[in-house]
Amino acid sequence: MSQLNVYRLNSKEVAKATEDWLTKRGVTKEQIGQLVMLLQKDYFPELTLAECVLNVESVLSKREVQNAVLTGIQLDMLAEEGKLLPPLQNMIAHDEGLYGCDEVLALSIVNVYGSIGFTNFGYVDKLKPGVLRKLNDKNSGEIHTFLDDIVGAIAAAASSRIAHRKQAEREEAAEAVGGGE
Ligand SMILES: [Mg+2]
Repeated sequence: MSQLNVYRLNSKEVAKATEDWLTKRGVTKEQIGQLVMLLQKDYFPELTLAECVLNVESVLSKREVQNAVLTGIQLDMLAEEGKLLPPLQNMIAHDEGLYGCDEVLALSIVNVYGSIGFTNFGYVDKLKPGVLRKLNDKNSGEIHTFLDDIVGAIAAAASSRIAHRKQAEREEAAEAVGGGE
């Protein structure tokens, strides 16, 4: 009988919930892919949107990323419903500039592919291109205090993944050429 109380984590369920909730909150993988494209196109002119989306999917397959997405979206939704305790309710509802925990949660995503993600994260956070502009619209009646940073962080992490992989490819190609001399 005690077996009934054993908690079992269902990884597929977590992955599916992450994807579903991003969609329900109005964010597609293609939109995140477009942010990646913006961050990386100057460095890799041959980069395609499909490749960017593949890298976004890879970032989204990580459990620590899924955890951050689910936690952030949950807090945004509780704030939308007015269910958080004061003073946190007002801080999150008004995206209080000195709150900062939204950025800290998002940094757990940026860290997944190394420190070069930090620069990209800071860049998209300042510029707020594409889907980030929509998430930051304070007149929409929706609250995305956490999600905007999370989306920026996913794009930054996917960009880091691309940069690391492309560098490795270049080195392999150079070695192949060197080896043929
Ligand atoms: Mg925020």
